[in-house]
Amino acid sequence: LTKAVVLLSGGADSSTMLAMAIHDHQIPAKEILCLSLYYGQLHSLEIDAAERVAGHYRCEHVVKVLPREIFEGGGSTIMQKDSVEGAEMPHMTYKEIAEDEGVSPTYVPFRNGNLLSAATSIALVRKAEAVYFGAHAEDARNWAYPDCTPEFIGAIANAIWVGSYHKVRLVTPLEWMMKKDIIWKGHKLQVPFELTMSCYEGLSPACGKCPTCVERLEAFKTNRLHDPLPYAEGVLV
Ligand SMILES: [Zn+2]
Repeated sequence: LTKAVVLLSGGADSSTMLAMAIHDHQIPAKEILCLSLYYGQLHSLEIDAAERVAGHYRCEHVVKVLPREIFEGGGSTIMQKDSVEGAEMPHMTYKEIAEDEGVSPTYVPFRNGNLLSAATSIALVRKAEAVYFGAHAEDARNWAYPDCTPEFIGAIANAIWVGSYHKVRLVTPLEWMMKKDIIWKGHKLQVPFELTMSCYEGLSPACGKCPTCVERLEAFKTNRLHDPLPYAEGVLV
């Protein structure tokens, strides 16, 4: 691969994926376009984090806006409150969400299908040969987020390849990794975790209670690493 679009949310996962594209896959940083999409998510501070992370690696960063009306009425707790019914953020882990067996409260209807379609259009225009997508095994577990599963990835990878005149490949380096493996990998590649941002509440200092905060803290603890992010008072880091 010589040129790629990396979907960069600014969280720990996509930042680690960016480091893998550069260090493991040997794509020159100047040939990587980091793409952040704003679709009305609460955690839009993540986009500032994405800007910092892309800057750290000296990659180009672009932010595009998807019309938030697409997801209106979807009820996801990660969306800005004026576009949904104002549900409370659940204080639960991904594991609990997955065991719940219904639709995850943080699921945005087919969000990743939309993000990947936009990324593929941009990749074609910019003559990039790959789109990097940071879905991981913990998101996919028990179908917590169906648009993160290997089944979804396989299907949409095929659609991207066929629909782009065989010019764009989907690359998903985190597909079979759990969160703790991603944090460890990022640690080894010296990802600047202090620049990232994961909180679904979109808070800084991070809330420490929403599903992504809980999983992130757990993953650092499991690896006996210190999470450099500032957290709200009382959160055990
Ligand atoms: Zn949080």
